[in-house]
Amino acid sequence: MRTEDDQAVELTRRIGAGGQGEVWEAGGGRIAVKLLHSRDQRAAERLATQLRTLRLLDLGDLPVARPLALLRPPNLGYTMVMLADMVALRHLFAPAGRTALVPWYTETGGLRRRLRLLGRTASALAGLHGRGLCYGDPSPVNVMVSEPLDYEQVYLIDVDNVAVTSEVRGSAYATRGYAAPEVLAGRLGVSSLSDAFSFAVMAFELLTVVHPFVGDKVYDGEPELEDKAFAGDLPWIEHSTDASNRSRFGLARDVVLTSGLRTLAARAFEAGVADPTARPTVAEWRTKLYEAADLTLACPDCHGTYLGSRATCPWCGVAPPPALFAQVLTQVGLEAAGKPMFAESRQALLVQRQVVTLVSARTAAAAADESEQPIVDLWYDQNDLLTVTNRWDRPVWLVGVSGGPRMAIAVGHDATIPLLNRRSGWELHFGPAHEPHRVLRFNRLVRRDNR
Ligand SMILES: [Zn+2]
Repeated sequence: MRTEDDQAVELTRRIGAGGQGEVWEAGGGRIAVKLLHSRDQRAAERLATQLRTLRLLDLGDLPVARPLALLRPPNLGYTMVMLADMVALRHLFAPAGRTALVPWYTETGGLRRRLRLLGRTASALAGLHGRGLCYGDPSPVNVMVSEPLDYEQVYLIDVDNVAVTSEVRGSAYATRGYAAPEVLAGRLGVSSLSDAFSFAVMAFELLTVVHPFVGDKVYDGEPELEDKAFAGDLPWIEHSTDASNRSRFGLARDVVLTSGLRTLAARAFEAGVADPTARPTVAEWRTKLYEAADLTLACPDCHGTYLGSRATCPWCGVAPPPALFAQVLTQVGLEAAGKPMFAESRQALLVQRQVVTLVSARTAAAAADESEQPIVDLWYDQNDLLTVTNRWDRPVWLVGVSGGPRMAIAVGHDATIPLLNRRSGWELHFGPAHEPHRVLRFNRLVRRDNR
């Protein structure tokens, strides 16, 4: 096949298929091709208009594929920029065949990587919403993620549904199992609220390895029951009052979801089924997902990652590694006597011994950071020393609580403090004393390895 500007396109690998068509890798992986099923004149005109509009939109540095060229008839579709070494998120959704669930979950990146990939996806969607756009069809086929486990890039492809308005287009434009009930039924068009529903389904399914509406009743029942479930006519599997569609499958919900994430899921899948405005926004998901990732530990034995509030590794039962608990506070001002006043928060992060912990601008400066660039690195070593490396563009301060020393760490420098044998703890201040700023308080030493 060829593009309108007469470039040859050779399809090499099918990335995925959705309601409207298929996405293929082409040209050695630097280009992706969306092939639409429909080839009628109206669809062709709609696509051409859509791509012209997309080229005019300022998408900044959002990780969203930019369209390149339309395909020549008789094919209907377009080419778009693709990144190397990416796979569709659906590869992380379920193990193949009889593969054991827990080892597979760990080998494909475990809980922490899933939380961060979802955080980045939510961030990309929030970036579109912030520009007054909606993505239209979030699904595990349209979200591409880094294939190598030590990378956490995400990239949204299939941009021909990106829209400003939310015209009703019919269910052909939505991916079964992920589309919001009102879009599936053709009652409403796509919107940031329908994006939020689709995202909630993806997030819950990726983390727990079970679809939020495919309970045992649906799994064991007639195929029509699945249609009912996807339309929102059956309770979701963790419904707070109606237990008629519980699931025996997937990972224990409280093992992979913080209470904050469970609350978001309940809002999305209970009140949010019928009332789109009751759903949590993708920005709320982004915050809770990143905050959950900050609370994970890596098991020294099975290498699985898990929420550090657990007494033992939920995957293998081994005791948690030593870690520091750092509470996130905001210094809101100074009292008359010069004593700092703090606003507390429920946010925190775990600093595992001998694992580099990155603190992003989201934590250090309350920024809606889309890239999660590190502001400081924390390194907690075997001698109970904590080293703080400043990667920011301004100084940070280590302060001994209740009258302890105060040392500035200049840009590009580091400082090391002893954590043991001190009655009072340390704080890391991301701003000078006279200005409001974020603070990390290392006030609890988690040393469960000695028990
Ligand atoms: Zn383990």
